[in-house]
Amino acid sequence: MDFRISEQQQSLYNGAKAFAEREVFTTVLERDKHERWDDALWKKMADAGLIGAPFPEEYGGTGLTAMETCLVQEGFTHGGHDGGLSMAWGASTILCGVPIWKLGTEDQKQKYLPKMCSGEWVGAFCLSEAGSGSDAASMKTKAVKDGNRWILNGSKMWITNGPIANHFIVTAVTDPEAKAFGISTFIVDRDFPGFKVGQHIDKMGMNTSRTSEILFEDCEVPEENLLGDINSGFVVTAKLILGWERSTMLAGALGGQRANLDVVCRYANERVQFNRPIAKFQAVRHMIADMKIRYEIGRNLIYRVAWQLDSGDDPPLIDAAIAKVQVSEAAQKTARDAIQILGGVGYTKEYHVERSLRDAILTTIGAGSSEIQRGIIARSVLDI
Ligand SMILES: Cc1cc2nc3c(=O)[nH]c(=O)nc-3n(C[C@H](O)[C@H](O)[C@H](O)COP(=O)(O)OP(=O)(O)OC[C@H]3O[C@@H](n4cnc5c(N)ncnc54)[C@H](O)[C@@H]3O)c2cc1C
Repeated sequence: MDFRISEQQQSLYNGAKAFAEREVFTTVLERDKHERWDDALWKKMADAGLIGAPFPEEYGGTGLTAMETCLVQEGFTHGGHDGGLSMAWGASTILCGVPIWKLGTEDQKQKYLPKMCSGEWVGAFCLSEAGSGSDAASMKTKAVKDGNRWILNGSKMWITNGPIANHFIVTAVTDPEAKAFGISTFIVDRDFPGFKVGQHIDKMGMNTSRTSEILFEDCEVPEENLLGDINSGFVVTAKLILGWERSTMLAGALGGQRANLDVVCRYANERVQFNRPIAKFQAVRHMIADMKIRYEIGRNLIYRVAWQLDSGDDPPLIDAAIAKVQVSEAAQKTARDAIQILGGVGYTKEYHVERSLRDAILTTIGAGSSEIQRGIIARSVLDI
């Protein structure tokens, strides 16, 4: 076990942070307010090597390890203080790109990954439906084989990047009797006949990412767009994504905590009440100390999951679940306390902490709620 971060790895963090301070932070208030997606910014992220961070160089990627991808993602969200863009990156690079990289045929990798890495194409991931969220395996979207193509019917809900993505990883039932073992994964292009973007979803936070419903009406998917083996959609794709999601993607929620710590420390040292900086008051100091403790605990949990990925192991479900609960709940508590420490100005948009609370609220719901994770942890501890 080696907990050190090398100088070279630290420079990845610093580079991503500096990039985001320059390119992301400067427009985040405006993009959040108008729910604006910025194609040019995405292209700059790609040029900086962020979009293709974990993919091999032969597919146009940056070739970073999972641990290094965490560092880049944490640094990016630290500098940009932009949870929505961080989530859009995760939906494209991690939830869509990683399954193509790890499960795709050579043709699929060659077709999709280089254009994702270059920023030309954005990806998305379609698992949830209006009737099936936590119980995702009870999905209704179906795929039926017809000659050399699949015909998809159904709809997906809450799809990050839905309105702007070029292609979508879609899970659909291919063997209704087999339940979770009868679900397959497809890569569906936006221009396939029968594909439609449904209603735009108006959100509380994460407003720098776009979200929509996705509809499949006799959508024609060529057979070569099946991803991985038939009926392995839930047991293989979903399992593969878990470890990546609960390390590289969740690292954004760590960066957000660090950004809030920066804001709070600066403010607490400057703001004077009762003739002294509020940082001198023990009640304030303890809140700041707790923010730091939560951040450090989360960092160890997330980077351990990434280390397991880099070691070639499947991260244990329980480790990933513990990381998910701790980091998402810490992100909310830290954002809430940051507002408290800033007082009235914390409640305004100017200091970015109110947006970070709105963004952080999603983290205990999306990608497996805290309640579901606690169920997994309890089952494991109780040895059920
Ligand atoms: C902004 C946003 C972006 C999203 N992006 C995507 C995306 O890109 N792709 C995608 O596929 N999905 C996406 N989702 C969907 C997200 O993953 C689901 O919202 C999440 O899985 C929860 O499902 P649900 O909303 O249907 O809630 P439900 O499953 O209906 O849960 C409602 C409540 O019941 C609790 N609950 C449910 N079952 C249990 C249980 N067994 N034990 C205890 N409590 C339980 C839950 O914890 C929750 O508190 C996104 C959601 C949002 C809001």
